[in-house]
Amino acid sequence: MDFDIIIRGGLLVDGTGSQGHQCDLGIKADRIVAMGPHLEGHAQEVIDADGMVVAPGFIDTHSHSEVMLLAEPQHERGLRQGITTEILGQDGLSYAPLSNNNLQLYRAYLAGLNGNPDINWDWSSVAEYRSRFDGTVAINTIYLIPHGTLRLEVLGMRDRPLVGEPLERAKALLRQGFEEGAAAFSTGLSYYPGAWSNTEELIELGRVAAEYGRPYVTHLRTVFREPQADYHRAGVEEALEIGRQTGVPVHFSHFRTSPATAGCVGHLLGPIREAMAGGLDITLETYPYSFGSGYAVMYLPPWAQEGGVEYTLQRLSDPVTRQRIRGEIAGSPFPPSPEETCTHVASRDYQWAVGHTFREIGERLGTHWLDALLLLMLHSRLRVGMKGPPTPDPEVEEQITRDLLQLISLPYYMVGSDSIPTGESPHPRAYGCFPRFLRLAREYGYPELETLIHRMTELPARRFGLRDRGVLALGKAADVVVFDPMETRDCAAFGEPKRLALGVRDVLVNGQLAIKDFQLTGCLAGRALSPA
Ligand SMILES: [Zn+2]
Repeated sequence: MDFDIIIRGGLLVDGTGSQGHQCDLGIKADRIVAMGPHLEGHAQEVIDADGMVVAPGFIDTHSHSEVMLLAEPQHERGLRQGITTEILGQDGLSYAPLSNNNLQLYRAYLAGLNGNPDINWDWSSVAEYRSRFDGTVAINTIYLIPHGTLRLEVLGMRDRPLVGEPLERAKALLRQGFEEGAAAFSTGLSYYPGAWSNTEELIELGRVAAEYGRPYVTHLRTVFREPQADYHRAGVEEALEIGRQTGVPVHFSHFRTSPATAGCVGHLLGPIREAMAGGLDITLETYPYSFGSGYAVMYLPPWAQEGGVEYTLQRLSDPVTRQRIRGEIAGSPFPPSPEETCTHVASRDYQWAVGHTFREIGERLGTHWLDALLLLMLHSRLRVGMKGPPTPDPEVEEQITRDLLQLISLPYYMVGSDSIPTGESPHPRAYGCFPRFLRLAREYGYPELETLIHRMTELPARRFGLRDRGVLALGKAADVVVFDPMETRDCAAFGEPKRLALGVRDVLVNGQLAIKDFQLTGCLAGRALSPA
């Protein structure tokens, strides 16, 4: 038999979780067409994988690559991690379906999160947005229909629940999105306009996802109309209630312990495990870091966000209103920390602030750090991002690392980088997430490689309906990563976040080499995938 590519002599870890074994792979066009210990036949390209692991390409279940992927389609930071598919449309925050005016509005509003590249912003439907990623970028993508986007389209940036005609329109748009190949419905209930929703509206929309058998993917609510004794618990309960009322499968975004809950995995997962025992279909995801990242707009009080960017800027530019905003941020249940570090700021005048903490920025400006943060936002058209703070106590950091490895060992947990590729000093997860998990598992001795690979491949492929991916088997798509099991590691760190990962030697996307012998090929073979 003739092949396009044979991968010879590697340790095949096939994604199912079963024991790795020596096996060659024969690839023709975009498919795996032969497997066996010593494949006979001729191939145009022979990859000697002796001493290497051969695994399915990794699936990143939570990425904000979005428009930056269109602007930087080679996607080296992802390929060097072994990623061949990313799931976009996260946290209720993306760009379709939107009519042109609303697309421009959301472009401005989300620029501090997703970037603001100079590309053609002229799509409208989910089908049109997805098609931009088809054959034009290095990796495959999947799209989730974002709740905030639906709300913006049918109601604008307004603080009221969806009911009546706008709700019916949102449901119709959601149905259309699924018909056009979207894989799930996503919410980000601490971001606007999604945070203005109530549970009833989410149940109504969740029912539509359930009709299509697609998951409800949620970044939990932290914004409540009534004061809550335990915000975290209340957010979890809301997600579970939506699952119970609608039967929709529920997927929790970036769910892990923090310095406040380090060592308490059992407690954290308690209500979720109870719900699973009661029959709910639940999965979760995490990235392997103890600190987070986001964009500063999320800290503004709800009333300050109504109407969108221009209205928010007017409020910030009025000194009296700015003081009111400052007071409410300081008194909110989720205030920013002065030890968070600025990842990017759009204003040229404030470029020096990147890489500095809010406290340091305040000191340099000779003002309180909160006032400094609001000034930065005002002068950057709200385009300010932040990360951290890192965990100062090494023992707590160590405990959170053990928690993360314990979580990813669970059979319903997967990996989502939550990568935010914006600015000069991003969170290192955009460059190191997957190799970091591989390194930590090697250093701590758990979970086993086969288990970890399963969490990165077959499990997310099943969850998001990719029937022909996530495992290496006859007839499956040839998304393959060849990596050094002893040397693969993350190099990106808090202070040096853009260092590329090491150890991934070859990457195939749809049977085409995107990395060959550690060299980027420039091949753009990624497809916009839809669930089968
Ligand atoms: Zn996210």
